[in-house]
Amino acid sequence: MTNTAPELNTPAIPAESIDSANTPAEITFADFGLDPLIQKAVAEQGYNTPTPIQAQAIPHVLTGRDLMGAAQTGTGKTAAFVLPIIQKILRHASSSASPARHPIRALVLTPTRELAVQVAENAASYSKHTDLRTAVVYGGVDMKEQVGLLRNGVEILIATPGRLLDHIGSKVANLSQVEILVLDEADRMLDMGFLPDLQRIIDLIPAQRQTLLFSATFSPEIKKLAQSYLRTPVTVEVARQNAAADTVKQVVHMVSSADKQRAIVKVLEARTRQGLSRQCIIFTNSRLGCARLARALERDGIKAGAIHGDKSQGERTLTLDAFKSGAIEVLVATDVAARGLDIPSMPCVINHELPFNAEDFIHRIGRTGRAGSKGDAIALVDDSEKRLLDDIEKLMKRKLEVAALPNFKQEPGQTSDPFFYKPYEATKPSQSNDPVQSSVTEPKKVGIVSAKPAVGALLGGFKKK
Ligand code: AMP
Repeated sequence: MTNTAPELNTPAIPAESIDSANTPAEITFADFGLDPLIQKAVAEQGYNTPTPIQAQAIPHVLTGRDLMGAAQTGTGKTAAFVLPIIQKILRHASSSASPARHPIRALVLTPTRELAVQVAENAASYSKHTDLRTAVVYGGVDMKEQVGLLRNGVEILIATPGRLLDHIGSKVANLSQVEILVLDEADRMLDMGFLPDLQRIIDLIPAQRQTLLFSATFSPEIKKLAQSYLRTPVTVEVARQNAAADTVKQVVHMVSSADKQRAIVKVLEARTRQGLSRQCIIFTNSRLGCARLARALERDGIKAGAIHGDKSQGERTLTLDAFKSGAIEVLVATDVAARGLDIPSMPCVINHELPFNAEDFIHRIGRTGRAGSKGDAIALVDDSEKRLLDDIEKLMKRKLEVAALPNFKQEPGQTSDPFFYKPYEATKPSQSNDPVQSSVTEPKKVGIVSAKPAVGALLGGFKKK
């Protein structure tokens, strides 16, 4: 099948009519003028209304503007760039088997393999009714399968920078026909030291390209990156800069490090009593601490799994799948490993310790309260972490509520919960029409939306129906 999409799409909503502060509420996917093949795929995902970042970004991307998007994972940002990308390159779609007819047209760079896999899954779902091919390449796994996919030809490539450079070095990947470049979670790519890799990669892409940069925060370094590689970009943002979602209730408990594990158990017990989900991500700063905490919680009878950099890709996938299915209720994670995980319904995030980098705190608590749902973010802070707390408060430009740690012991005859003298807000099943919010409350839609292909099968490419 060859698609006959128009060369230049004219969206029904002019890009300039949408500004970040004032997103028209009544926008539908049909308003973007996307090809029916894309609209069909979107409808199959069960999305009714674009999320704010989608409403803001899609018209700009369709008109060819470079764009800086301030949006965290969980806001629908992936579809905000993937849908218009598919629309724009659809004119190249070809049913020919010849690799020459399938050069890389769109390149998405991500900091981690988890995010790469998730973006690729989205791209595969949204393009499944077209002849466009999608593949993902990342490090830590054998190159062979990826080489096969790249040699066959692929229009949309999602990659982590290091592994992409390996494939470029062995002449398996060629970027000379890339029209659209996306730097996803650019702040994290810089944090992880990918700048030299990014520079090498971008130098291989034609200057006549469209560049989209997404980042949870706009640090001076990100602004510098944008100045170097984006041309008069339009900026769209869905949350206040350096702010957590308003739907997240944040609490700090001052607790000695020796008592932190016990405090977690208390938090989970209290959530059970209050009829709240026990599902949570607990963040730790080190791989060792992450593994230890998960084991200790298991000894306390809590179904816990650990996800950190020392785990193989296969182990991470298994743990993540178990978490998404509910077989594990507590995921203990380090920042890097948790980056980009698509778990829309996360009701609670616990910081077992504060991150050394204040921006990481925003990423961590961004795991909850996503797409308008409510969430609790609980930080367990000991005296030695007060300086880190100061940094976080400075970055967020607000003081966090400190709840004095109540007595751990239940006094005889005491009926109220000593730990929760002030209960966290329950997340009630939503009656809202907001599709993201309602998807959050439906267990079926938790996690990765497209069940196929399974994460474990995603070593590289996606087969079309
Ligand atoms: P992202 O921020 O791209 O990681 O997306 C977060 C979650 O929202 C994913 O599970 C998406 O499948 C889902 N999602 C994206 N766009 C929409 C939409 N318009 N309506 C409902 N859910 C969406």
